[in-house]
Amino acid sequence: MTGLTFHQFICRSDNYGLLLHDHKSGATAAIDAPDAAEIERQLDARGWKLTHILTTHHHGDHVEGNLPLKQRYGCNITGPKDEAAKILGIDQVVSGGDRFSWDGREVLVMDCPGHTLGHVAYYMPAEEAVFAGDTLFSLGCGRVFEGAMEQMHRSVTQFALLPPTTQLFCGHEYTQSNARFALSVEPGNTDLVNRVAEVDRLRAETKMTCPSTIGIEKATNPFLRTGSAEIRKVLGMEHANDMEVFAELRERKNSFK
Ligand code: ZN
Ligand code: FE
Repeated sequence: MTGLTFHQFICRSDNYGLLLHDHKSGATAAIDAPDAAEIERQLDARGWKLTHILTTHHHGDHVEGNLPLKQRYGCNITGPKDEAAKILGIDQVVSGGDRFSWDGREVLVMDCPGHTLGHVAYYMPAEEAVFAGDTLFSLGCGRVFEGAMEQMHRSVTQFALLPPTTQLFCGHEYTQSNARFALSVEPGNTDLVNRVAEVDRLRAETKMTCPSTIGIEKATNPFLRTGSAEIRKVLGMEHANDMEVFAELRERKNSFK
């Protein structure tokens, strides 16, 4: 870890805002730009100037701040090549498998089609941090709007290959509602029961439940646990393959009340 500060806050209703700041170089990046006014407020309060925006996908609640922030700071905007036409103010396009340097730090681009077709995540190995946008949430995953279930399954499961200590930053604070679904399909998972208790306590104090870690998610997130005997039993899918279990979980979550 090399002198990088992560500042996370909630904006709109349940979007995460996230700023990365290097106090030596002054470089400051926003992961997505859900709300220009709130991001400006957070920057001003710290005396930081926005130099970069890293966009995960084209949805309005992730790009609406792009143009006003660019107007004020002249910041450089990076985003997925396949969605460049829908990402206002984009300067630099990236695709899955690319690596680039931000403020002298290596950033690996992960291809994450499913929620949207061009969705990318950004992984900074030396900072042990990954920015997953709306692909992987704590205790859940994004809805499959544009891609196929097979794509989303691959997109989500690749996160399990990252080191377990990797901090997982997500696009939304959805953990508590995800938790109810997760418990309904794996009530006997004590790691999950303990995590849900922690999440309830944090939310009761209006604290954030992210960043999570890849290790926590592998132990608790049903979408990364398609091999779990209990989940398979609850779904009645003991002999299905992982993709089928994943798809069934995603379908059930869509209508879960
Ligand atoms: Zn989205
Ligand atoms: Fe979103």
